Amino acid sequence: MRVPMRAYDLIRKKRDGTALSAGEIAWLVGGFVLGSVPDYQMAAFLMAVYFRGMTSEETAALTEAVVRSGERLDLGSLAGRAVDKHSSGGVGDKTSLVLVPLVASAGVPVPKLSGRGLGHTGGTLDKLEAIPGFTTALSEAAFVEQVERIGCAIAGQSAAMVPADARLYALRDVTATVDSVPLIASSIMSKKLAAGASAILLDVKCGRGAFMKTEAGARILAEAMVAIGRAAGRSTAAVISAMDHPLGRAVGNALEVAEAIATLRGEGPGDLEALCLVLGGWMLVLGGCAASPEEGSEELLHRLRSGDALRKFEALVIAQGGDARVVRDPGRLPSAPYRLAAPAPTFGVVVGIDAEAVGLAAMRLGAGRTRKGEGVDPAVGIVIERPAGSTVEVGESLATIHARSEEAGVAAAREVAAAFEIGESAPAEAPVIRGVIRG
Ligand code: URA
Repeated sequence: MRVPMRAYDLIRKKRDGTALSAGEIAWLVGGFVLGSVPDYQMAAFLMAVYFRGMTSEETAALTEAVVRSGERLDLGSLAGRAVDKHSSGGVGDKTSLVLVPLVASAGVPVPKLSGRGLGHTGGTLDKLEAIPGFTTALSEAAFVEQVERIGCAIAGQSAAMVPADARLYALRDVTATVDSVPLIASSIMSKKLAAGASAILLDVKCGRGAFMKTEAGARILAEAMVAIGRAAGRSTAAVISAMDHPLGRAVGNALEVAEAIATLRGEGPGDLEALCLVLGGWMLVLGGCAASPEEGSEELLHRLRSGDALRKFEALVIAQGGDARVVRDPGRLPSAPYRLAAPAPTFGVVVGIDAEAVGLAAMRLGAGRTRKGEGVDPAVGIVIERPAGSTVEVGESLATIHARSEEAGVAAAREVAAAFEIGESAPAEAPVIRGVIRG
């Protein structure tokens, strides 16, 4: 006679360091979703995972169980290999706004489900909604039809997808179990697998402004996510990129849209364009449209220079109800009533800009949220005027603060000036790309 499974036994097994089978993990997650495994037992299990970790087979099984808890997007009708992209989040990270139309302009379908910002990092949906009229709430049918028609779409994930992930994350958030590699990797990848693309490109950030502070930590997370993609039969690659300084110059929703448009015009900041070309080059490889990432980057540079990428962004904005005039005239984006300078307290060379501190200052201006569900101000934010390596004089503006009130602007100017490290000599050039992990 088979002995029925009990959550108690599975928690104890994990606590004692023995790997669970895929069936055991599926039973636990299934019971949690149905309510037969209570929160307190799942919380104990998560803590056991936090201390004991998971094998790659267990992590893949956990991801699959979370995917099975809800609906999956069916992209079977798309011609070509659809490629999705995920960033582990950063400050000034507007790469999705550039990459989605850029890669689609080269013939690879990009169906992108994105999230909102939380804490010091921004979210793609908040940024796009700074464009008047732009909607990120698309039905599944409208989303797929748009990708078929114009090659790309960016929307929020429906609540019916991976419901187990939201419930597990809420438990992790209150039980000090968020920062566990198998739990982070399965959480991110469950959303990507449910979103249905044949291939996935991951941008895993490391540094002061990133979730993973060290390159070694980012590599471990990237390897775990690539292994999950491989186990699920999806072509997956991860690029590890630096997030010590804000990416590009702009931090804040409308300001980042304007910078993304400049980049699509071929007039963006060098670090942002370079990162987009590397990530996009890999997306073309995964989508079967380039033999190597270098060949892919070359093709994308051509698409930037020819105007194809900008035209694709315009098509995306029109398709999702946005005011397409902002593409030719970004001055139509919402703007803040107060602009203040963050003056340099001393002369010298900008050695570093603490990305997390800049992200928090932007959040306090209203560009981001401290809690899920809060609204954001599309207009406010920060534009870095003196990037790392620049020489500065005392009193010269390091950054421009775009604020809703003078008081908020003065406070942010103080915080942003303190985020700049000014020294005697220029820092050694640190590469933005720190490595690539191929599945
Ligand atoms: N992002 C996610 O989606 N999940 C995590 O667990 C951490 C970051």
